[in-house]
Amino acid sequence: MAAASPGPERRGAGARGRLRPRPAIEALTPYVPGRPAGSRDGSLASNESPLPTSAAVQRALRAAGHDLNRYPDPLAGELRARLGEELGVDPEQVLVGNGSDELIYLLVIAYAAGGGRVLCADPPYRVHEIAALALGAEVVRVPLRDWAHDLEQMAGVEAELAFIGNPHNPTGTALPREQLEHFLRTCRARLVAVDEAYLDFCDDALAVSSIPLVASGRLVCLRTFSKIAGLAGARVGYMVGSVEIVAALRRFRPAFSVSSLAQAAALAALADDRRRQRLRRYTIRSRRRLAALFREHGYASLPSQANFILVLAPDEQRLVERLAAAGISARPGSTLGVPGAVRLSVPSPAGFELLERALAGS
Ligand SMILES: *Cc1c(COP(=O)(O)O)cnc(C)c1O
Repeated sequence: MAAASPGPERRGAGARGRLRPRPAIEALTPYVPGRPAGSRDGSLASNESPLPTSAAVQRALRAAGHDLNRYPDPLAGELRARLGEELGVDPEQVLVGNGSDELIYLLVIAYAAGGGRVLCADPPYRVHEIAALALGAEVVRVPLRDWAHDLEQMAGVEAELAFIGNPHNPTGTALPREQLEHFLRTCRARLVAVDEAYLDFCDDALAVSSIPLVASGRLVCLRTFSKIAGLAGARVGYMVGSVEIVAALRRFRPAFSVSSLAQAAALAALADDRRRQRLRRYTIRSRRRLAALFREHGYASLPSQANFILVLAPDEQRLVERLAAAGISARPGSTLGVPGAVRLSVPSPAGFELLERALAGS
């Protein structure tokens, strides 16, 4: 066999022939996912549901498991029909994705990739920013004001696409609907994507979806089964928008990105409104308890409308290590663009016990 000879110097190959990605990719600071803890109850770094997979979802998964020789329904027709009923929209206005993270990439590809502008808050939800940078868009960040989106400043920025977290991650702050409506009327962004991953955890007054605003054709809502439906591992999210925007993304989306198992799990979770209500009530109660616990130990936190709190901790690294020593993983604020803070998800009752012990033993 002949020895391989070095190939011709190509674009992207360095001096020693090392293959390099595009400069936009090389320049990216990688997304650092939350680390799981040694135990389920101690895993508080990724805003997951503390409830285990429901029996109904497990049954649906077993049934769907019989047909894995078949491709999934590419358009998730049944799931979109149910979502349409639940949300009061035409199923043609709904696009299901491999988590809302996939839909974020699709939106950037369709509306901003290759030189367009993407507007987001500073700190942003990292996936909004990474998708934009990876796809060659220019990112404009507008600093939060009092920990919430500065919609007035954001409205003045010309952009192809604006991402608004409502509630925002990593702060847990939510925006009243009037403010979002005003932003939509006045902003210079062509398309606004409101990320409602945590909306179902809001107190009643703020749990108001922007879905009615999609009729404007300039706004889409991103939602997910990862948080309120407790299916982070299944990877199902959806977008609600105008028929035109949904059709644009359908032209190029990976046809089979949402597996048949994921679709079955989502359908079963969607049918179980009682469980979602239970998780909502538990979360609202528990985030207050979580904030009170940290306050007792000298830490302030931001008032949260989500299933996590952001604890203000000048000793970020020390606090993260102390919690880790007690079997709890929390998210260092530095990995989220908020140094001097630690983000923790609402724990299970056993998780609270771990946390109480960890904080008391300091
Ligand atoms: C968790 C989260 C999501 C959900 O992402 P999936 O891909 O659906 O799991 C979306 N947006 C924000 C802001 C989040 O924090």
